[in-house]
Amino acid sequence: MVLDDLGTSLRSSLDKLQGKSRLSESDVEEIVKEIQRSLLSADVDVSLVMELSDSIKSRALEEEPPGGTTAKDHVLKIVYEEMVELVGDSTELPLENQTILLAGLQGSGKTTSAAKMAWWFSKKGLRPAVIQTDTFRPGAYDQAKQMCERAEVDFYGNPDNDDPVDIARTGLEATEDADVHIVDTAGRHALEDDLIAEIEEIEGVVDPDRSLLVLDAAIGQGAKDQARQFEKSIGIEGVVITKLDGTAKGGGALTAVNETDSSIAFLGTGETVQDIERFEPSGFISRLLGMGDLKQLSERVERAMQETQEEDEDWDPEDMLQGEFTLKDMKRQMDAMNKMGPLDQVMDMIPGLGGGMMDELPDDAMDVTQDRMRRFERIMDSMTEEELENPRVVGQSRTRRIARGSGTDEETVQQLLEQHSMMEETIGQFQGMGEGDMQRMMKKMGG
Ligand code: GDP
Repeated sequence: MVLDDLGTSLRSSLDKLQGKSRLSESDVEEIVKEIQRSLLSADVDVSLVMELSDSIKSRALEEEPPGGTTAKDHVLKIVYEEMVELVGDSTELPLENQTILLAGLQGSGKTTSAAKMAWWFSKKGLRPAVIQTDTFRPGAYDQAKQMCERAEVDFYGNPDNDDPVDIARTGLEATEDADVHIVDTAGRHALEDDLIAEIEEIEGVVDPDRSLLVLDAAIGQGAKDQARQFEKSIGIEGVVITKLDGTAKGGGALTAVNETDSSIAFLGTGETVQDIERFEPSGFISRLLGMGDLKQLSERVERAMQETQEEDEDWDPEDMLQGEFTLKDMKRQMDAMNKMGPLDQVMDMIPGLGGGMMDELPDDAMDVTQDRMRRFERIMDSMTEEELENPRVVGQSRTRRIARGSGTDEETVQQLLEQHSMMEETIGQFQGMGEGDMQRMMKKMGG
């Protein structure tokens, strides 16, 4: 994913602020350095990095944190806001009649993205058509045609015509039944005058509602010049970042977004027509900053909690976040988690737990398979009320008794207790955020 490293390093420097209520100048310096280092190594343009880090720095030092806010939250909020400001909302793409022009260098992924976008619009119930005007690259016609067949969308191209402007004009007429026209253009190895002249001419004929710049995530400092040129000649409303399934960090694309004063429209994440995602800025940045995707998480948790609660009317999930985490809570928690879906995904969405935390836990730490659950349930049935409320009283002799009573073995009883303490710790981190913090963050995320 874009800027994954930024997330990791930011999280570790922000974690150092845990428990602090005020930021010192050196705290801010350290965080800003970390941000600079990550952005630069992700190929974000130097002057943009400086601009971004300067405003984070001055805001972190000058703005008074609202009462009750920890230093970490305060910085997190500022970094979040500055990053959201930088990437902006995802490019507006109303689900209606429109013409989209794709621009970019050869190999950036225009043809692939054209078919992917057409597929995306068709899934939204619209009728898209792709018009292939790339007469420069041999094979572009066949590639586009095949991909459009796979995407089951209309396609126009003419391998016998070498005039892209004429193809564009004819193509628009030939596909007039379509709602969304996506016009693919030729690229060159570099920004050459004839490329610019050609795309300007196509733009004149097509009169697009929006022009999108397609950029390979691997593009580095070159992004700035490219973005500036295309912006000057045809005007860029959005950026499509491709090949994010690779190792590239995508920093150049952020530079392009900034340079064209535009936003990110789509992310390309593979070679097939379905490998396309709309860009979701708040979810993306909050994950990046290790806040987890709070909105999504809160919805899932709520749904699962509700179901569990319907089955067990005495239980109030709030208790778990406030008071002790008993074995009874653990059982309900396991029930609820089973309903939420794959645990690693759920964990990834929990603030502070995402991004690598799972890697540090032993593989089976959160393994709540049905089989294991059933054995754990039998064990819990053999425990006294006192033991369930306070598992710490379970020593060796009680373990032996419980194992015998439940028809399991001492090792499994031990595993249950270990799992409990692991989850207790996890819940503790959740509690550490404080209820107010959670709510504030959820509000910030628009939840
Ligand atoms: P164009 O010259 O700009 O039209 O670029 P193409 O659409 O032909 O893409 C160039 C190469 O990149 C092709 O081999 C594509 O399969 C590949 N490609 C495009 N988008 C993606 C992507 O999101 N992920 C991966 N892995 N490959 C991509």
